[in-house]
Amino acid sequence: MDEPDKQPPYWLVGACPAWCDAWHRDEDLAGDRRHVSRWRQRIVLSTMDPVRLEPQTSEGKVELEPCAVQVWVEQGYREVEPRVWLEEDHRLGVFALGLAEAERLAQTLTEAVKLGRSAPS
Ligand SMILES: [Zn+2]
Repeated sequence: MDEPDKQPPYWLVGACPAWCDAWHRDEDLAGDRRHVSRWRQRIVLSTMDPVRLEPQTSEGKVELEPCAVQVWVEQGYREVEPRVWLEEDHRLGVFALGLAEAERLAQTLTEAVKLGRSAPS
């Protein structure tokens, strides 16, 4: 999204999607010309082992962080549709899904939750 009094960058030929909160500039390199949502959800994965961080001090104190997955929407300026991105905070995995794939994943997750919550037969 651009400031109201600022011209859009020369490379941006259309309007930003409604969900885009990115600051676009003429100086953006081709790979950085992306619409990005500020909307971002973070889900802590409480059943996963924590991730051991590299010591930041000479005392070598070990710190642990929980695994967490973040979800957001992103679209390259020449791409035909946005993709839903999933990334583990510690880069244990990064996933980009087409909208239909993300919808299928959401449905699959909903089915799995229903199955897990179903009463024993
Ligand atoms: Zn944009």
